[in-house]
Parts: sequence; structure tokens; C-alpha cells
Amino acid sequence: MNAFTFLPPTEKRKQYELRALALRDFAGVQAGESLDPFALAQFAKLLVVDFEQIKGLSDESRKHLLGAGTDEWSGGACSQPLPNGWRIVILNPAHGVHRNRATLMEEIAHVFLGHKPNRLAVLRTDASEGARAPVARDYNKSDEEAAYAIGAAALVPYATLRQLVFEGRSAEQIARRLRVSRQLVEYRIKVTHLWQFYKGASASRAQHV
Ligand SMILES: [Zn+2]
Repeated sequence: MNAFTFLPPTEKRKQYELRALALRDFAGVQAGESLDPFALAQFAKLLVVDFEQIKGLSDESRKHLLGAGTDEWSGGACSQPLPNGWRIVILNPAHGVHRNRATLMEEIAHVFLGHKPNRLAVLRTDASEGARAPVARDYNKSDEEAAYAIGAAALVPYATLRQLVFEGRSAEQIARRLRVSRQLVEYRIKVTHLWQFYKGASASRAQHV
């Protein structure tokens, strides 16, 4: 990070952004590059287990978790570590890889921030707003907020987001470039107070069509 790095306007988001940038530094990704949480997970001692590999789930449970109940959970880390100190993370395969990346990034952020878990976390992600309501959570509310926000900032850093918004890119284009969902990009545009610029640019985008 250099001295000219842009940071979001509010104090809370600045703090989140600095932590997110430290995570990106640690991962060795350049500004503007997409961050791969699956590559970073090993440093957080998180073992991502394929949902299909879970034994002991009845067909009925499996169907529910991927069907009617699929909006009730996006993933979580088991609170009890394995004997080697690693913890298992399970991601909802029905949510697609982009949402999985945000969920995993949040789990990584919990570890790097030193948050203390105490039970299996099951989190619901509302795809329409990027907002989420925990069904059950194993961290306190402020830890949950920080981990989600910092994970999202690591995936969609402010300086890159700002540049792409000012260039007139759509959320869809930014999402493709950073390999995240459009909803996550829109959430980041809103919380970093770039929405008015984004809307302005999108009005001129529409004129050019
Ligand atoms: Zn969490």
C-alpha cells in the first residue's frame, strides 16, 4: 500500500479497509487483482470441505439444505478444531462460487482478526441487498459485522472500486473482474458512499446505449 491509497470516507470503513488491505498484502495480491480466498484459507488453517463429502446427512436433510432451506445458510466453520488445529469450513454449493468466496472470506477474516468462535455458525445471506441476518451465530455482533465488512473490502478494495466506478463500469463488470457477486459490489458501492457517483455514471452509461 502506498501513501496515495484512497480510503473510504467514514472512520469505521477506514479501519475496516486498512485491515482488508493488510489481508491482501499478506495474500500477495496486487492492487486491482482479484483475491482468491481459497488460496488464503490454508493460512487461516481453514479446511474447506465439499458439501458432498459430508457423511451422515440423510437424503432428506441434504435435499432441505440445498432446496427449501438453502437461503437459511451460506456456510460456516466448525468451532471445534481438528487435532492438527485446523477447522473445517462448509460452504453452500447451491449459492455458487461467487457467494462462496464472500462467505469463506468472512471466515478467514474472523481468524485473522483473532475472533473466538464457540459453535457452528449458520448464516443467511440475503442476495438482494448483500445484507445478512444470522440465523445462529458464534461470534458477537460487532465481530460478525467486522469480519463480513473486512472480508468484503478485501475482495472489493475501495481504491479499485472507486477507480472502476469513476471509469463508468457497471456493478456487473466490476463483479466479473473481481470474481464476486454483483450484489457484493453494490453493497460495497453503498457502504463506501460511492453510490451517487455510481448512479451518475450509470445515467450516462444508459445514454450511450
Ligand atoms: Zn461470521
